Amino acid sequence: MFYLFDVIVIGGGIAGCTTAYYLAGDGVDVLLLEQYEVNALASGANAGSLHAQIQPEPFVDFGERWARRFLPAIPFYAESLSMWYDIEAILGVDLEVSRDGGLVVAANANDMNFLEAKAALEKSVGLETVLLTAAELRDRAPYISKKMVGGALCSIEGKANPLLATPAFAAAAKDRGVVIEQGQRVTEIRRLPDYYEVQCGNRSYRALRVVNAAGTQAGNIASMLDGKIEMQSFPIQLSVTEPVSPLIDHLLYFSSEMLTLKQTKAGTILIGGGWPAVLDKQQQPRVKGSSLYNNLLIAVRTVPAVAAAKIVRTWAAEVNGNQSWLPVIGEMPGSSGFFINYVPWMGLSGALAASRITASLTQGHKPPVDFDIVPFRPG
Ligand SMILES: Cc1cc2nc3c(=O)[nH]c(=O)nc-3n(C[C@H](O)[C@H](O)[C@H](O)COP(=O)(O)OP(=O)(O)OC[C@H]3O[C@@H](n4cnc5c(N)ncnc54)[C@H](O)[C@@H]3O)c2cc1C
Repeated sequence: MFYLFDVIVIGGGIAGCTTAYYLAGDGVDVLLLEQYEVNALASGANAGSLHAQIQPEPFVDFGERWARRFLPAIPFYAESLSMWYDIEAILGVDLEVSRDGGLVVAANANDMNFLEAKAALEKSVGLETVLLTAAELRDRAPYISKKMVGGALCSIEGKANPLLATPAFAAAAKDRGVVIEQGQRVTEIRRLPDYYEVQCGNRSYRALRVVNAAGTQAGNIASMLDGKIEMQSFPIQLSVTEPVSPLIDHLLYFSSEMLTLKQTKAGTILIGGGWPAVLDKQQQPRVKGSSLYNNLLIAVRTVPAVAAAKIVRTWAAEVNGNQSWLPVIGEMPGSSGFFINYVPWMGLSGALAASRITASLTQGHKPPVDFDIVPFRPG
């Protein structure tokens, strides 16, 4: 005889831990398998931004056609953010979640035209972004360089502490009865007539259904069942300063350059924006000097006072991405009972909505959301 779980979740990042948490809350018997430790990869290495707006960089790179295709994701992110703003009270823990607004600054008239077009698209799906003149920008964000000519504020955006969030969900999932096995790398998955058999080296586990929440490895996991899903991984980097006096209250972006900037509860300033890192010979992500230089240059150009804060650490990690930036959530075509929970690029922001939807679909229920999830279907 062997033990048959209802669901095996593969991956102990924010996607896997929140999926396990929601499933167990519905009374589902869950095993979570993680190859390293919970929160070991992107979920524990990210910048903690809670995004909902169309990100400036891919819009600039890929154009309006790309942005229009991305629009169905905006209500999804808005829903996920509203779940983030409620979650501390539900879990009874401090995750340093705050809703300070996402502010994109413009350096010239072209940038302002771009922000205007972006705001119009966002409004078409119900997301309000307020355009700011130079005077209004200075009034709301006096720390920003006087050279900036305006901006756009998306009031629902904010931040959370990625070092706290996933471990808190893992603990809450455990309290709900989820079995979490760390150090278990999934090497093979077999679909048998009545259940799935998931192999981790010599050990095998069985469940009626499987959720693939393996982040950058989700494509490899899907290919174990011959699934082909558009998933890629990219090494990117992030820097943090020493703690300084309160300076920046928004989640800050630059409209035509790669930048995100925010100050944490501890006073440190996180400087990122998706600057590329490199992979070494062992395929491990490593910091790229020129990216660090350019990232800091733009940060200081945007907020001159940042120049006085010492950088104490720069790190690189791989982010799960895809070209459309659309989440991939649902049952994998041809593999009944095998579900994917993949939120590219902004997986912290989208995790709560994605995992609530995944947990419902895995049980054969209609997800409790009022937006269309068809554009997120795998395949
Ligand atoms: C530097 C950086 C900054 C970022 N900034 C932000 C941000 O500010 N806001 C935002 O919303 N998003 C941000 N992101 C993206 C975000 O971190 C990711 O999209 C998100 O963490 C993905 O979560 P996940 O659980 O799907 O994947 P992961 O965190 O990668 O977790 C997947 C887990 O699956 C495990 N796994 C993989 N293969 C196997 C296997 N075979 N067997 C068992 N376990 C396996 C891995 O070990 C891992 O722990 C950033 C990413 C990076 C790298």
